[in-house]
Amino acid sequence: MRVLVVEDDALLGDAVQAGLIQAGFAVDWVRDGVAATHALQTDTYAAVVLDLGLPRLSGLDVLRRLRERDDPVPVLILTARDTVDDRVQGLDAGADDYLIKPFDMGELGARLRALIRRASGKPAPVLRVGDVELDPAAHRARFRGNAVDLSAKEFAVLHALMSSAGKVLSRAQIEQQLYAWGEEIESNAVEVHIHHLRRKLAPETIQTIRGVGYLLPRAPRS
Ligand code: CA
Repeated sequence: MRVLVVEDDALLGDAVQAGLIQAGFAVDWVRDGVAATHALQTDTYAAVVLDLGLPRLSGLDVLRRLRERDDPVPVLILTARDTVDDRVQGLDAGADDYLIKPFDMGELGARLRALIRRASGKPAPVLRVGDVELDPAAHRARFRGNAVDLSAKEFAVLHALMSSAGKVLSRAQIEQQLYAWGEEIESNAVEVHIHHLRRKLAPETIQTIRGVGYLLPRAPRS
């Protein structure tokens, strides 16, 4: 799950980025409203953490432009404690949730997971497809009832495939959800992760659709 963090405060931005990476998100961080608008037009995110007081373009303006384009990406705004008006304006401008600074990193991660679940139309906190079970909050995977030990990237690949179960995802679409800017992507990284996942689960769990991408069937045979 790749998220965009928009925060001009270096200390806070750094803490949010580190905390979300720790929670298993791929994180891009920008520090002003213009950079945020650009990132949102060029990349696809599962959710956005948006500070309202930003240089160059305010968070509210970023949000309004986003919703004017009918971009449905879930947005959580960060506001100061004494600014009820900001929160009201933010929610009315299309934000989905807010947190008041200072906030707990665990709560931020949990709220983002909840927003992403709702946006994907899968309200259950644990994903289940066929024999595979994935708990994004606890970072746990099970196959046929047994715990499976996955690396962070393997977990992210499986999460992407399960979130789109029954649909083919191209390698580029999977990469897009896996890597933040500046992270080095080995040219065959996705293939390698899929190879490991098939070995740890079962070979037939993930299908290769030649020339198109990968598919986790909605109800694979057990
Ligand atoms: Ca600020």
